[in-house]
Amino acid sequence: MKKAALIIACLLAFFYLQAEDLSIKKDSAAFEIKYSREAFPGDAQFVRMTVIPLKNKKEAARTKASLTLLLDGRELSSSDFYRISGNNKKNNFSVTLLAAIPLSTWWDQKDGWTLKIKCSVCDSADETLELPMTLLHKDFVSETLWLDGKNTSIKTDVSPRRQQDIEKLNAILAATDKTAVWQTAPFNAPVSSNRRTSFFADRRIYKYNTGGSTTGLHHGIDYGVPEGTEVHACARGKVVLAEDRVSTGYSVVIEHLPGLYSLYYHMSRLDVKEGDITEEGQLIGLSGCTGLATGPHLHWEMRLYMQSVSPDYFLGNFTFE
Ligand SMILES: [Zn+2]
Repeated sequence: MKKAALIIACLLAFFYLQAEDLSIKKDSAAFEIKYSREAFPGDAQFVRMTVIPLKNKKEAARTKASLTLLLDGRELSSSDFYRISGNNKKNNFSVTLLAAIPLSTWWDQKDGWTLKIKCSVCDSADETLELPMTLLHKDFVSETLWLDGKNTSIKTDVSPRRQQDIEKLNAILAATDKTAVWQTAPFNAPVSSNRRTSFFADRRIYKYNTGGSTTGLHHGIDYGVPEGTEVHACARGKVVLAEDRVSTGYSVVIEHLPGLYSLYYHMSRLDVKEGDITEEGQLIGLSGCTGLATGPHLHWEMRLYMQSVSPDYFLGNFTFE
């Protein structure tokens, strides 16, 4: 049994990893880069880069870098690298940086992708590095949800309170604190059950009991667990929201890395408050059926620079440690 589990774990690791390992030498520095040459829509692309300055060695910490994703030469999105570790040993100065870009679930072009790194080492001219990327195909589920009177009124709620909920959450998710490096090791699922009743990026049609309908994307994974099931933090981090919201009920949001947040919805009880530091696996509350829910379940979601990304991606070694 143990052997079977190990084989499955190895296969999963292979599936998630396929890390490309590059060593590139330029005028101002040597670069060691790890990233995934192949990626799926709805995942993220993390790039880990160790910079070893060749001239002003002691200035490694002043390295600045950005990552840009291009499709057929056109810039789609961009983000800055942040520091995750540094080395100041004698004659061995280096800095290790991480950057991430969310990959939309709507993208389906296989080739033509390039990751461009711009890096300025100790005030010298920018070095430019280009990494190829292939986007593999992924199918997503389409489903229709028939809402009863209660859920229809939540979904069509235009009250100031719901508007305030949305504005507050958006402001939290838009914040990028470059020093918020809480965990780079693989994350864990928040419940032990693997009974999933909805999947990440399901394309949904919500049918109102009053006749109309609307479309939407399901931004997380739904675990069909009984009310009162323990919910655990998927990783170390800082609680940035813990409150009752109109559409998502008792909710928790935790910051794990700059721009990266985990969200937990529809709970019946909260065991953390804003400002708390959670350890990976710490109890944060109990599952329930609060807010817009057709039955007891836990909704677990990950957001990277505002965009929802597949939670499963973070169960693998996404930072290439
Ligand atoms: Zn859900």
